[in-house]
Amino acid sequence: MSTPSPLVGVAAALASQPPTRTVFSQFSLTGKVALVTGGGRGIGLEVAAGFAEAGATAYCLDLSKQPDDDFVTAQKFVAQMPPLANNVKNGRIEYISGDVTDQKQMWKVAEDIVAKEGRLDICFANAGILAGADCLEYSAEDFTKILNVNVNGVLYTAQAAGRQMEKLGIQGSIILTASMSGSISNQNQKWVAYTTSKSAVIQMARSMACELGPKGIRVNSLSPGYIYTKMTKAFLDSHTDLMEEWCSQNPLGRLGRPDELRGVCLWLASDASTFCTGSDIIVDGGHRAW
Ligand code: NDP
Repeated sequence: MSTPSPLVGVAAALASQPPTRTVFSQFSLTGKVALVTGGGRGIGLEVAAGFAEAGATAYCLDLSKQPDDDFVTAQKFVAQMPPLANNVKNGRIEYISGDVTDQKQMWKVAEDIVAKEGRLDICFANAGILAGADCLEYSAEDFTKILNVNVNGVLYTAQAAGRQMEKLGIQGSIILTASMSGSISNQNQKWVAYTTSKSAVIQMARSMACELGPKGIRVNSLSPGYIYTKMTKAFLDSHTDLMEEWCSQNPLGRLGRPDELRGVCLWLASDASTFCTGSDIIVDGGHRAW
């Protein structure tokens, strides 16, 4: 069974509609509300600012009590954007301090957003941590810590948003940040906890997509390759020659930038991807192509 097509593209032509450009408006997030975890900096902040540029109000949740300088600067930048169109409210980013490993707190965060904004359309469950140790020596405590943030925290975030979407009958989009490390191992890295956690996130997206599909809620995972952020900088700074090694591992010969994830996240969050669910979207500069 197919759903009725909106009057865009060829359907608009066949219905003798006056020609109008609709392809960009399919990417619009005007009036939509998003929750972005790990949104205080790095990939989360970049994607949240992109959502806001497209018209959304994005609530950025991160661990620190106060937003750091990157967030404050980005918030001012977004606030000074020229208007999207006449009588259309611009998007914005707001900061929330929170911990994704606290399930009750995360559920309450989403409830509070809905109490304030009346809706929640988009969730980017993105907070994650990275550390390494010899796989035969990995302590239970360190292994559990990574899984708690990268797996449990992602589940609690997706639950928090999904519960509100279900309650309000919103056909929302949930994006879980996995990694290429969820389907390959990182050469020369001892990241067994991290790779295990990201594999779980890819499978979590498939599983949730299947359960939530009948409610019209979409769930996908995003698998970036190496992106230059504070997370990877910490590794690169303490391992000489690593930058060159990582760059040489993909056909483009470089690391990615956080802004190179804006387009794919906007596509996943918006009505431009309404038939995409249960997919893992790989954005890795071709790392897995050879
Ligand atoms: P960053 O370390 O720059 O940002 C992650 C943010 O998440 C930090 O601000 C961190 O806060 C926050 N965070 C950590 N734990 C929690 C928690 N318990 N509750 C709330 N927030 C928390 O990393 P990136 O932007 O690079 O990474 C974002 C996501 O992308 C992660 O899931 C990562 O695994 C994934 N990814 C990154 C890649 C890369 O190359 N950078 C590649 C593939 C995937 P704090 O600093 O205070 O701990």
